[in-house]
This record gives sequence, C-alpha cells and structure tokens, in this order.
Amino acid sequence: MSDKMNFQAEVGKLLDIVVNSLYSERQIFLRELISNASDACDKLKYLALTHPDIAKSAGEFKIAITPDAKNATLKIADNGIGMNKEDLINHLGTIAKSGTAEFVKNVKDNGSAVDLIGQFGVGFYSAFMVASKVEILTKKAGEDNAWSWESDGVSGFEIKEAKKESNGTEITLYLKDEDKNFTDTIYLRHIIRTYSDHIDYPIVLCLGEAGEETVNSGSALWARHKSEITSDQYKEFYHHISKNFDDPWLTLHFKAEGNIEYTGLLYIPSSAPYDLFQPDVKNGLKLYVNKVFISDKVEELMPHYLRFVKGVIDSSDLPLNISREMLQHSALLEKIKSGTVKRLLKELQKRVENYDDYLIFWQAFGAAFKEGIYEDFTNREEIAALSRFISTKDLEKYTSLDEYIERAKNVKIGENEQKAIYYITGDDVKVLANNPQLEAFKAKGIEVLLLTDPIDEFWTQTLPNYKGFAIQHIANADIDLNIERKDDKAGDGEMEKLCSIMNELFKNEVGKVTTTEKLTNSPVSLNVEQGQMSIHLERLMRNHQQQTAFASTRILELNPYHPLIIKLAAMAMEENNRPKVIEISKILLDQAKIAEGESISDPAFYVAKLSDYILKAMA
Ligand code: ADP
Ligand code: MG
Repeated sequence: MSDKMNFQAEVGKLLDIVVNSLYSERQIFLRELISNASDACDKLKYLALTHPDIAKSAGEFKIAITPDAKNATLKIADNGIGMNKEDLINHLGTIAKSGTAEFVKNVKDNGSAVDLIGQFGVGFYSAFMVASKVEILTKKAGEDNAWSWESDGVSGFEIKEAKKESNGTEITLYLKDEDKNFTDTIYLRHIIRTYSDHIDYPIVLCLGEAGEETVNSGSALWARHKSEITSDQYKEFYHHISKNFDDPWLTLHFKAEGNIEYTGLLYIPSSAPYDLFQPDVKNGLKLYVNKVFISDKVEELMPHYLRFVKGVIDSSDLPLNISREMLQHSALLEKIKSGTVKRLLKELQKRVENYDDYLIFWQAFGAAFKEGIYEDFTNREEIAALSRFISTKDLEKYTSLDEYIERAKNVKIGENEQKAIYYITGDDVKVLANNPQLEAFKAKGIEVLLLTDPIDEFWTQTLPNYKGFAIQHIANADIDLNIERKDDKAGDGEMEKLCSIMNELFKNEVGKVTTTEKLTNSPVSLNVEQGQMSIHLERLMRNHQQQTAFASTRILELNPYHPLIIKLAAMAMEENNRPKVIEISKILLDQAKIAEGESISDPAFYVAKLSDYILKAMA
C-alpha cells in the first residue's frame, strides 16, 4: 500500500526557497536533523516515565551518523519516539504552525536568513538544501507498524508501510553532486562539534570497518560548573536552545540553594524574535527534572512579559513523573518562577547604567518588558525603574523615570512644584512631539514622556504614581496651563459666536468647541475631557473593532491669539460670511485631527479646499 500526497502549498513555497535560493551555510541542515533526533529522544524519555512498558523497548539513546562516500548518502538515525503515519503527514508535509509563511517573508525581507530556519519550526526542510531525495524509515515507540516516507522535495511525498525492528527514525539523504563533501568524516566531525557538541545524547559517527566514534562531549551543560564552561560553549548552547544565531545579550547561569534547589541557564537574545507580539507566543524555557526533559510548554515558569528569555530550568525537587496538571498548580514552580524573575531583574539592574549596552536590550524587548509594570504587581516599581522612555527633553535619547523626576524637581508651575510625571500617548514619536496639546507644557518648561507602545495605555493606569509623583496623561493634568500673553486676541463676543457656530456644525464629531489659553502656535487642537479615555487608546480600540468613536468626549479647542482664529472670529459676526466660515471651520477640524494622528472623515474635501487656498496664495 502506498500513498502519494502533495505538499501543502506553503511547504512547496518554502522548499522552493530552500532548494533554489539559499546557498550559504548549507551545513546547518545537520544541526537541524540532529536537533530533531535529540527532541525525539527527549520525548521518548519523558513518555517512558509514565509508560514503563515502552521504556523496556527504549535502549540507550543515541544518534548515529553514517556517511557513505561511494553512494553519496548520509544517514541520520535515532532511537527516539519515532513517527506513525499521521505524524509523518502532519509534521512533514503540512505545517500547522504559521512558521512557513513567516519564514518565507523573513527571507524576502532580509535576504538569506537560512540561519534562522529552525526558529520558525521548519528545520526539517533544510535537508533539501543538500539532498535531491530524502528517505525516512520510522517506527513509533509502542506501535507495531513501521513506515517509509520519501520525497524529492519538489512535487510531494510518498508514504508506504515498511519493516523496521526497533522504534526510532532513520533519515537517508541522497546528496546532490555539489554536496558530496558531507560524507567527509573530518568535515562531519567538525560540523558536529561546532553546532551540536552539547547535545545530551551521544552523537556517534559510524565509520564502517573503522568502527564507531562518539563525537560530542554531550552532558547537560547547565549541570556543569561555571568554571568548566567556555564562553563558546555557552554561546553554542544558546544557539541550540533559542534557535537564534546572534550573540546572547545576557547569559545567566545560577544555582539556587536553600528551600528549593534548582539550576537555571538563561539567556536574553540581542534581537527580538518575529513572534514577540503574536498572541500565541509561549515562553522560551525548558523544564528539566534531574536532567530529564519534562516540557517546554510550562507557562507557569516565566511571566508573559519575560517571554523572550530563553533557557533551561532544572530542579531535582520536582517529582520526575510530574503531570502537566500538577505543573499548573505547583507552589514549587511558583517559587522557582519568582526567584528566577528576581535574579533576572537584578542582572538588568547591573546593565542598566551602561546606556549603549542597555539600549540593545531595550530596543529589542522594551515594549514587551514594560508589560510587567501592568502584569507583575510585586515587581512593578522595579520594572518601571528599569524602563526607558523618549520624552520632549530629547527625541533621540531614552530617559528613565528617575532622571525625569530629578529634572522635574527644578520646575515650578506657577507657585507650585511639579508633582507629576506627564505623558502623552500616540502612534509615533515625531507626530506626538508636534501635538498642539504640548505647547503649554513647552512654554512652561515641563517635560512630557512620549509613549508610543500600545501597552503604555495600560501600565500607566495600573501604576498611579512613582516615587511620590503621580503618573498623568497631559489631558488629566490638574495644573494651570494657561499662558499669559499680551498679544492680540479675538474678542470674547466674537469667540462665543464662532464657538456656537462650530458647536452646531460639529455636533456629531466632537462633544464641544471651546476657547483655550493653552495653545501658542496652533490655531486649533483636539483634546478630551479630564478622566476620559485618551484619543490614542480610543483609536487602538476602534482599530481592534472593540468600540466605536466616543465623539462626545472630544473637545475642539480654539486659540484666540492665532491670527487665523482672530480673523475667522471676526468673520463669524457677519451673517453673509457664513458659508466661508463653515468651510474654513471644517478645514480646521481636519487639521486638528491630522495633528493628533487621526484620520479625517473626508480627505477629498480637505485636499480640494487646500488646493484652492494654495492657488489663491500663489496668485
Ligand atoms: P520543529 O523541530 O521546530 O518542530 P522541524 O521542521 O525540525 O520543526 O520538525 C517538524 C516535526 O517533525 C517535529 O516537530 C517532529 O514532530 C517531527 N520530526 C522530525 N524529525 C523527527 C525525528 N527524528 N523523530 C521524530 N519526529 C521527528
Ligand atoms: Mg527541528
């Protein structure tokens, strides 16, 4: 019996890239296949904990590499969990994860990114970089049937029933002419030591008559003493565990002793992964009990805001046969988590004073890390202290809340001292920096944080103050923002008239139109009532279609000192100017929206009118 199937379209696209456009670093296919073999051994080892009958059939784990120069083949065999027919179809032919599409996009955006192939959960396909045909013979532990899978990596694959004595998987690569060097034993030894030295199972090179040779040093790296580990070994292990190929920004290896004993080997990468903000992203830790791999899906091991931390936690205090349900409610795990978080925060504290160094971390992970202010009640002050922000002081340089407070101590607002950390939220720093609502703050020398990450709307709500300073959106600032001036100003009666015309005209667009003393340069600006949702948050929610606009809480503010408003207010007094006043008012509302970063309701109107006015100005 044989089944011929086509690759899922996505896989086809991926294979096309792998085979036709990735020429460099072809040797990484071996790392990927060895990594899969090691995963397969991990899985069987774990299964054997609860199914001793299966354990009997599982021998000493090992990964065997057999080169055959004469026939130009390379075989990678493991005695791990193996695959049945469903596994073969589901894992090697279709892709459940969104990995492929992301990988294809990444290759398009960044040129060759073959290095990252494992990170996207599609490492197996790298075999087709060097092989014109791949054959798999596999038998799942505990099952009777064995299967073969065969593919040229182009059209599809064929699955047949097959014969195999023991559980595990054998992958035979029929090497392309230009890749025959992968049967060279010196070269193979070199690749394995470079990329897979730390693999916890013996990787054995089978040399025919010359016998077998274990190539890797292979013991759980984290279990060794620090002094016995070189920085290259740390780095290589990081590459393995994170599937990243940059240098880690932070390496933290520790042993916690006392009530609970556990070892951690943790890394923070130096760049963000593609899925940092995808809803289904999981934390990057693997849990071991006495060097036995338990799971890489223990959400309780690390809080979500630290999901970018990669590494291993190994505790001998957890029972070996711990079930996933037990893991979910384990007080022990809770303690391990809080201890680990404390250690990580302490490491960040050591690095935070070096601006350029910390910037690497902050730019990669700051937006996720800040979620901790919102999520981690116990540590929120410390996380806030470790957070960095752009402010009106310097658009190019990050500041801390403590530095902000130091500067704020010298600021007087009228008779009073500055008592709050002010912020404004929006999509983009440059747009925010020019928001008319900041004019009064600039005039009074008050610094304002310019916050552009969605999470900023939320942590600012959960941390009402920091070191005695309230954290306030500028719309909620209860300070006197009026600017005293002797400039020309529109008359009160005229302003009243203009406001009433606009109030009627915009009754569906804004809650009210008022005169303000807070603007210096702009004729108009959008604001919200104190205590209301910020315009930016409202926009975020609208984009997620959770809410419609709360037009009723908006305020359109007019600057009575601006020549344009002075003229317009005078015009408003004459009944026959009405059509012109209405037209200009509409343009002004659009301007206020644009300055805020909002989209305008009738761009065609705005563009046409603006062109008219430009033409008149040129005449
Ligand atoms: P990933 O390893 O990130 O899941 P891969 O493309 O490397 O992605 O492998 C896909 C899947 O194929 C694996 O998750 C596993 O289920 C299966 N697989 C690959 N190689 C083996 C193997 N040697 N033994 C058992 N299963 C394997
Ligand atoms: Mg893999």
